[in-house]
Amino acid sequence: MANSSILVVGGGISGITSAIEAAEMEVDVYLVESEPTLGGRVGQLRYYFPKLCPPTCGLEINYKRMKANPHLTIYTMTEVLEISGAPGSYKVKLKQNPRFVNDNCTCCGECEKVCEGERISRFDFGLGKTKAIYLPSPMAFPARYVLDKSALAPGDLEKIMSVCQYHAIDPDMKEEVFELEVGAIIWATGWQPYDATKIDNLGYGKFNNVITNMQVERMASPWGPTGGEIKRPSDGEVPTKVAFVQCAGSRDENHLPYCSYICCLASLKHSLYFAEKYPNTECTIFYIDIRTPGRYEKFLNRATNEAKIKFVKGKVAKIEEDPSTKDLLVTAEDTLSGRRVTERFNMVILALGMQPSTIGKTIPGLSLDENGFVVETDGIIPVGCAKKPLDVMTSNETATGAVLKALQVIKRA
Ligand SMILES: Cc1cc2nc3c(=O)[nH]c(=O)nc-3n(C[C@H](O)[C@H](O)[C@H](O)COP(=O)(O)OP(=O)(O)OC[C@H]3O[C@@H](n4cnc5c(N)ncnc54)[C@H](O)[C@@H]3O)c2cc1C
Repeated sequence: MANSSILVVGGGISGITSAIEAAEMEVDVYLVESEPTLGGRVGQLRYYFPKLCPPTCGLEINYKRMKANPHLTIYTMTEVLEISGAPGSYKVKLKQNPRFVNDNCTCCGECEKVCEGERISRFDFGLGKTKAIYLPSPMAFPARYVLDKSALAPGDLEKIMSVCQYHAIDPDMKEEVFELEVGAIIWATGWQPYDATKIDNLGYGKFNNVITNMQVERMASPWGPTGGEIKRPSDGEVPTKVAFVQCAGSRDENHLPYCSYICCLASLKHSLYFAEKYPNTECTIFYIDIRTPGRYEKFLNRATNEAKIKFVKGKVAKIEEDPSTKDLLVTAEDTLSGRRVTERFNMVILALGMQPSTIGKTIPGLSLDENGFVVETDGIIPVGCAKKPLDVMTSNETATGAVLKALQVIKRA
């Protein structure tokens, strides 16, 4: 007999939507997330287009629906090791890593205050640090701290354990491998930024003031590493002239051969961040084509009306640094005038493309295409950016559609 439960892998907006839609149909759902919190990339944004809502907007409502639903079981810090079986009766082997903090945690933060060891924050894309014991996101769900034992300073463990009146720190937690039986699988593992250091001519990692679009999101966030200020890493000054380099990695046979779909919209959104906070900052967008599909044309109009944007149609050929000021000299072929232009900027933002987080991974039972996106098979349905580069709205549409497909798989089996 077919198993009627669904496994959702990945707890970003696509996975959350899939899990809620299915659980609200009274189907038993297991939602598995590799990080200590749900939320995915949306949780790292300052605002999301088109309405420019903060991520709390959508996520909080979803978290409320999840808490209220008895059909949903959530596993954080968990990854799929192997899938076997067939549509209607899959066996999935999973591994859960230890959090070293149990359910008693109330997020009082006393442990963080006394802890001295620190670690680089992956959530802030290396722009800041957290303590060794930390809340994984300002909107952490589940609302619980996590301990990175490798980052503890001598004596930290004793201090954080003695200050925790809820007995929530458990340094002896162990990794657990377990199995689930499900009828269908929705794959929602999303995307990661393309590795900017692979694009030699754009100077990321060599020049301090060349940063990425996701680093801008973290800087612009009031809970981010700069408290909401978008500043030059070299001297902490607010830039007055900023260049955006579109298609950084995307639409390039040497890197990502596809369009990442949202990067033009993201740079327009970032121009609005500058307009809101620093109205004197001038933004220059170097582009191949400006792509604002469908109704997003309105967003292009809004950004060009509200922000100070100059558009240069041309792919950036190279970026050099003026060592005395740490300004950047950006050279591009201006295809409309036919001239090679070199212009000075205080900061460069790379509109980095999105790569599926499945890239380079092998999970027995899961099929990937040549770019690492998940290929749909009868009972394994990819959604959101695991399927292709997408915005939030369309990711949610794929998630809702996938639930219907998953229910059909279970019914047919
Ligand atoms: C700079 C930038 C700005 C953007 N701004 C906007 C915007 O303003 N508006 C908009 O609509 N879109 C925006 N986007 C696009 C948006 O980020 C995506 O549409 C959205 O993140 C897709 O959600 P997702 O759930 O598919 O993937 P993700 O958000 O990537 O979530 C995937 C989840 O799966 C988890 N995961 C990964 N691997 C595993 C694994 N092996 N096992 C278990 N879990 C795993 C991850 O930890 C994550 O929680 C932007 C993108 C960029 C690059």
